[in-house]
Amino acid sequence: MATWSELQHTQPRVVPFILKSLEKDRLSHAYIFAGESGTGKREIALQLTKSYFCRERNGTEPCGQCVDCRRIDKGNHPDVHMIVPDGASIKKHQVEFLQKEFTYRGVESSHKIYVISEADKMTASAANSLLKFLEEPESPTLALLLTERESALLPTVRSRSQQLSFHPLSKSVFSDKLQEMGMSRLQSLLLAEITTNFEHTNHLNEGDWIAQARSVVIQLMGELYLRPNQVLLTLQDKWLPICKDKEQQEAGLDMILLWLRDLLYIQTGKSDTLVFPDQQDQYEQLALSISQQQISEHLSSVLEAKRHLNANMNYQLVMEKLLLSIQGV
Ligand SMILES: [Zn+2]
Repeated sequence: MATWSELQHTQPRVVPFILKSLEKDRLSHAYIFAGESGTGKREIALQLTKSYFCRERNGTEPCGQCVDCRRIDKGNHPDVHMIVPDGASIKKHQVEFLQKEFTYRGVESSHKIYVISEADKMTASAANSLLKFLEEPESPTLALLLTERESALLPTVRSRSQQLSFHPLSKSVFSDKLQEMGMSRLQSLLLAEITTNFEHTNHLNEGDWIAQARSVVIQLMGELYLRPNQVLLTLQDKWLPICKDKEQQEAGLDMILLWLRDLLYIQTGKSDTLVFPDQQDQYEQLALSISQQQISEHLSSVLEAKRHLNANMNYQLVMEKLLLSIQGV
């Protein structure tokens, strides 16, 4: 179980706001937790639920041990209701069931909490049903509406709730999370520089793509500077076959950019921030024969290649132009 201070690391603005409201006992009756997948909406909703009901609360921190905390963890607390989409949508009968439950006084206390995941998937009739409920709850209730697309919620639902924006995770928090999920440190460092969105990550890393692409970019860039005769062959045999779709092609160019930035970091003495830390020896060797000016020009060439890619130029052509232009400077 994460503590509030751990969660604060994930959401440094939302969490202090919630804690302050908890401390002052000034929680609103409805919140929208809006933010992309993986930003901690569900975890923070659960933690808030525990803090709300915990009998042994220490400040704002729930104990995690009492009957209430344990029931919330197990998903069977009588005063806490979770709604998730039934198939593709959240239907009216789900909201009506909730309302029926809530017309009884709280079993354990007079308070109730409901958490609606993917609240944007409510049908119009479900949302209208909820609306009445948001306006006139029978007993003190706290509604937590979780969504990745808050613009898809009814304006009337939005106007009756307080919105909290969950920001994308910082690179270091994201990289730590990827490692907790089993990814190696080297891969997670690289991936967190390319994206901090879990869905994008899953898509990009299908079939262990990051590990493959990482080793090919190291080979390609090493050859570009040290064994230039081989580089077009590696492009043909190894690089192009793994950069098939636009997303991979773009991520591939990002990796080249990051590799070059590392080289620049070595030149400027910032070796503790490398994205390819295992390449430090190679970078130091290369840094002896390449000037900062040259690296800056090579970085500009990669940015130009990204522009060409976005203008739908043929990828093989984009890459050949890039490698030749770096070799020519
Ligand atoms: Zn407790």
